Amino acid sequence: MLETSFDTNKPSAHLVGKPLTWSCGLHSLGEPFFTPTLPTPMGDAHWVSQNRAFGQELGLDDAFWDDPMSLLALSGNAVWPGSQPVASVYSGHQFGVWAGQLGDGRAVSLGELDTPIGRQDWQLKGAGPTPYSRRGDGRAVLRSSIREYLCSEAMHGLGIPTTRALALCASKLPVWRETVETAAVLTRVAPCFIRFGHFEHFASVGDSDSLQRLVHGVIAQFFPDIALQQLPLEQATVVWLKTVSQRTAELMAQWQTVGFCHGVMNTDNMSALGLTLDYGPFQFLDAYDPEHICNHSDHQGRYAYQRQPQVAFWNLFCLGQAVATLVGETEPVLQALNVYKTAYPHALQARWRQKLGLSAAHGADAELIDSVLHLLSDGAVDFTIFWRRLSQSVAASAEMGPVETAWTPVRDLFLDQRAWLDWERRYIHRLGTQDLGTTGAAMLHVNPKYVLRNHLGETAIQQAQLGDFSQVDNLLALLRHPFDEHPESAHLAGFPPDWASSIAISCSS
Ligand code: AMP
Ligand code: MG
Repeated sequence: MLETSFDTNKPSAHLVGKPLTWSCGLHSLGEPFFTPTLPTPMGDAHWVSQNRAFGQELGLDDAFWDDPMSLLALSGNAVWPGSQPVASVYSGHQFGVWAGQLGDGRAVSLGELDTPIGRQDWQLKGAGPTPYSRRGDGRAVLRSSIREYLCSEAMHGLGIPTTRALALCASKLPVWRETVETAAVLTRVAPCFIRFGHFEHFASVGDSDSLQRLVHGVIAQFFPDIALQQLPLEQATVVWLKTVSQRTAELMAQWQTVGFCHGVMNTDNMSALGLTLDYGPFQFLDAYDPEHICNHSDHQGRYAYQRQPQVAFWNLFCLGQAVATLVGETEPVLQALNVYKTAYPHALQARWRQKLGLSAAHGADAELIDSVLHLLSDGAVDFTIFWRRLSQSVAASAEMGPVETAWTPVRDLFLDQRAWLDWERRYIHRLGTQDLGTTGAAMLHVNPKYVLRNHLGETAIQQAQLGDFSQVDNLLALLRHPFDEHPESAHLAGFPPDWASSIAISCSS
C-alpha cells in the first residue's frame, strides 16, 4: 500500500529550516503534457547511497536524510504531502528511425522545488509503471541505476552539464532482464527533463496549440534572456533553437574532449537544456579509439564515439523540423540549426587547446591537435592517462627544467617513440614562452585524473549486489573532485585491467 496520510503538524522532510514546499512551474501545463501518476511501492526499501553533498546544494539538512519519510518517498513507497507526481509524454527517433510515442515509461516527477540552485524537478526513475510504459515493467535494476547515479555526479564533477543524482534506494523486488536482478529507484534532479522528443511528439500528432504552449513554457521558465526580449513566438522559437544548437555544440565538445560516449543518442535522450541526460550504456574511453562503440546493442555503430557530434546535429534537425511549423518559414530554422556548424568546431578547438595548455589560439593548432590524436589512436594509448601525464610533464618541466625525466612518464605511453618525440618537440616549441608552472597547473584542472571507467563502476556494482555499498559512496566522493590527486585512491586512476574490455553494456537496464 502506498502511504499518503501524514501528521501534517510535523513536517516530515526539510529544506534547511523549512518543510519541502512543492511548487508548480512547468508542471502547471498539466494535461496533455503531464499525467498524474503515483509511484508503485517496491517493498521494503533501503538506502544504497545518499548524496548528501548534492543535498546541501539543494538546501537539504541532515534531518532530511535521517527522516524515515525520505526513504519512503524516494523509494516510491510513499508520497510527500503536497507532491503531485506526474509522468510526461514524448516521442522520438531511435537509432535514426521514427519510434512514435514513448514517454516517461519508468520515471515519475514528484514536483518542482525552489532550492538555492534554482527551481528543480525531482524525478524517481524506476518507480513502477506509468501510462507510457508500453510493454515495460517501469522498473530499473540496481546495476544500471548505480551507473547512472555515479556518472551523473562524475559528469558534474568534470564540469559537464548534466542531470544530477540525489539518492539511490533499492529493495529485493525481482526484476527480469537477461537474468533476474533486483530493483532500484534513482532520484534524479534537473531544472526540467524536457527532451527534443517532447517537441517532436506534439508536432507529430499535429497538436500545434500544445506545441506552442510547450515552447512558450520552456522559454519562459528556462531561458529568461529570451523571455525578456518579449518577441513574437515565431521569433522567440528561432532564438531559442539557436541557443539549443549552441548549448548542444558546447556539450558535444565537452563529451568528445573527455572521451565520453553516451551510447544511445536517440532524440528522446537529448535535453532541451543541453544537459547530459539518460545514462544507459555510456562509457569513458579507455584506449583512444575514435570508432569505439560502447553500446553492445548498437550493431551499426551509429553512436560510436566519433559520430556523436554529427548525430547531435541530426537530432537538432529533428527538433528544428518539429518546431518549424511555429516559425512558418524554413530559412530562419535552418540558420538557427547552422549555428551548430560553427559553434561545435569552435568549442571543440577551444577545449583541445585548453587540454594542451595553450593560452592563445594559433593557426597551426588544428594540425597539432589532429596529429596527437592520430598518435593516440595509432598506439591505442589510454586517453585519460595520456592527458594527465602530459599535464604532469609540463608541470614537472617548470620545476626540473628542460630535462628528459620530466617527459618520461608520457613518452612511455608510446611504442612509436620517433613519432612521439617529433610531436613532443613541436608541442614544446608551441608552448614557447608560456609560463610552464601556470600552464601545467591549469592543465591539471582540465585533464582529470579520475573518470568513471566501466571496470570501476562494475566493481562497485558487484559489491553492491552482495550488499556492500561502500564502493558506491567512495566513487561518488572521488568523482566529485576528479582533478584532485587523492593519493589514497591512485589505484583507481590506473590502466584498466584486462577484463575491462570484456564488460558488455547493452540497452538492458
Ligand atoms: P531508454 O532507452 O532508456 O532511453 O528508454 C527508451 C524508452 O523506453 C523511454 O520511453 C523509457 O521510458 C522506456 N523504457 C525503458 N525501460 C523501460 C521499462 N523497464 N519500463 C517501461 N518503460 C521503459
Ligand atoms: Mg531515455
